[in-house]
Amino acid sequence: MQSYISPWPETSPAPPFPRRLVILGATGSIGTSALRVVLRHPELFQVLALAGGRNAERLAEQAALLRPPYLALVEPADVDRLRTLLPGDYHPEILSGSAAFERLAALPEADMVLSSIVGAAGFAPTLAAARAGKTIALANKESLVLGGHLIRAACRASGALVLPVDSEHNALFQGLAGHAGDGLHRLILTASGGPFRGRSRADLEGVTRDQALAHPNWSMGAKISIDSSTLMNKGLEIIEACHLYGLPADKVGVVVHPQSIVHSLVEYVDGSQIAHLGLPDMQIPIAHCLCYPRRVELGLKRLSLAEVGSLTFEEPNLEAFPCLRLAQEAFAAGPSHPVVLNAVNEVAVDLFLHEKIRYLEIPAMIETALAGHAATPVDSPEAILELDRETRKRAAAHRT
Ligand code: NDP
Ligand code: MG
Repeated sequence: MQSYISPWPETSPAPPFPRRLVILGATGSIGTSALRVVLRHPELFQVLALAGGRNAERLAEQAALLRPPYLALVEPADVDRLRTLLPGDYHPEILSGSAAFERLAALPEADMVLSSIVGAAGFAPTLAAARAGKTIALANKESLVLGGHLIRAACRASGALVLPVDSEHNALFQGLAGHAGDGLHRLILTASGGPFRGRSRADLEGVTRDQALAHPNWSMGAKISIDSSTLMNKGLEIIEACHLYGLPADKVGVVVHPQSIVHSLVEYVDGSQIAHLGLPDMQIPIAHCLCYPRRVELGLKRLSLAEVGSLTFEEPNLEAFPCLRLAQEAFAAGPSHPVVLNAVNEVAVDLFLHEKIRYLEIPAMIETALAGHAATPVDSPEAILELDRETRKRAAAHRT
């Protein structure tokens, strides 16, 4: 595909096996699923680095199993705790601070980086991996929302390859295989609709944190679970798809599909739609990326369409779930608006998770911030991160 974010992986050599792997966000939902894949096929990987955020206990357990030469956590104080939790005969180099993640993403001896930190914190490491020419299994959609244009330019310059882990984008990637974008009409992202599908705006007034976290089909981290409930996740995914596949927003549609069996579709000019189907388990797209182009057995329950019975589809309700529209508008408005959208969303979701704001304040805060934002140049990572910081400060101050 000519306008793919990196050279189209089918046309480029994939790293040989065993792959020397760096996992950023190892302690999270995606990281944990990735380690299941790695432990099932240990002959295919050499894990060089495992990086967590704050969870020293989980990182210690993972590290004891795989013994990578590098580990990282955000805070130096957590590193001290981590050291006490590791086996006595294992002495990895342990990094901390935000630069640690960029350093691991660009480790000269690494072939492949799984970018699965949550939120804007994933942007700089993903860009570092792109600049260093790595094969990037990309789960961190926020990094494309912040600076997809910079990641694209970095991949073009270094030859870094991006393989999409996000299930919809992985489905699209598979639907585009062999076509390289020829004859493409549009992409169609499926959305489960989240736990509040079918509710009106008024019904959402009093919903609680636990209700919003209870995703019907997927087991995921807290932030993306809330994003799925507001449909912001689908909004971020439209932006992600536009950056990955080099398309304008009107070429990416959304259809709600509550069973989460069809993971997305590619529509060609002749009217054909190629869908990707599978049970909703992130090990499938993760393994597809980590082992690409090889397919590996995962020991998962197999999809039986007869058992599923029926697959249904409906239009998203933009009135009840304005975040989808806000993301589309932000992307259309230019490259600084998505940075603001993402930053306020992260602040609002965090406040909601801490029960400091009501559910409907999430879209309200984002709408207010976007309405007050005047487009500003974001042509360097520094400019993006500065806008991200400033926006967060303003959004948090607005609430206290
Ligand atoms: P989780 O919250 O489960 O995990 C996030 C990971 O990032 C943890 O390892 C966490 O560390 C780490 N982390 C958090 N903040 C920082 C930071 N400032 N610096 C470094 N590391 C940090 O999230 P998910 O695994 O659910 O999601 C990860 C990414 O993948 C997100 O961008 C999400 O949108 C995307 N994604 C997730 C899917 C899913 O099914 N979960 C599906 C598709 C995409 P710790 O826990 O140790 O603090
Ligand atoms: Mg997704």
